Amino acid sequence: MIITIDGPAGTGKSTVAQRVARELGFDFLDTGAMYRSVGLEALRQNIDLEDASQLERLTRDCHIEFNWSTQPPQILLNAQPVESLLRSPEVTRAASYIATVPAVRQLLVQQQQRIGHQRPNLVSEGRDQGSVVFPDAQRKFYLDATPHERAQRRVNQLRQQGKTADVDEVLRQILDRDERDRNRRAGPLVAAPGSTIIDTTHLSLQEVVQEITRMVRAL
Ligand code: C5P
Repeated sequence: MIITIDGPAGTGKSTVAQRVARELGFDFLDTGAMYRSVGLEALRQNIDLEDASQLERLTRDCHIEFNWSTQPPQILLNAQPVESLLRSPEVTRAASYIATVPAVRQLLVQQQQRIGHQRPNLVSEGRDQGSVVFPDAQRKFYLDATPHERAQRRVNQLRQQGKTADVDEVLRQILDRDERDRNRRAGPLVAAPGSTIIDTTHLSLQEVVQEITRMVRAL
């Protein structure tokens, strides 16, 4: 059974998807980490983030793998663990740019679909999982929250990690990423037909997890 969870940045998708997967005994696929890995490699190789053909070549050369025996699955880029490098502001921004390139998306979508065949009980999280990657998923969710709430959550997360963060600056970055995600030609951020939209603005993480697992168990 495939469950998709899509939505804009800062809605808590990743944590929610991880917890839902744990509750159900499913695997968890973080597709954002795949775009981030390609973004990281583009920065390492100093590739122009607007050069589509170089980015396509780079994506073909990137070997992205998940170690399914860890929780959450550890991501390996060219056989190296990279998780700790994927969340920096530079990689976040690079991922958002490379994700607009149709050829890059096509390659990563194919890899995600292959994973869906190999790991048949999957909670897959991203922007296009219900609309493009797994259109036949048994249950699709779209998480949303107001931009201000999403920015505030990110700031709280950063502060917990001992980092300083300015809400207005984080809000600006979130709106910037939203705009690129929503307006790109390939795989834009949309609520897939048939998805359940959950506005998480006034809900706790636990409430969202409970609601999703309840709906999946009711299938
Ligand atoms: O979800 P996360 O913030 O880790 O995703 C990083 C970037 O990858 C996003 O800004 C988005 O542009 C892109 N992305 C995407 N499609 C997905 C997952 C992520 O375009 N399925």
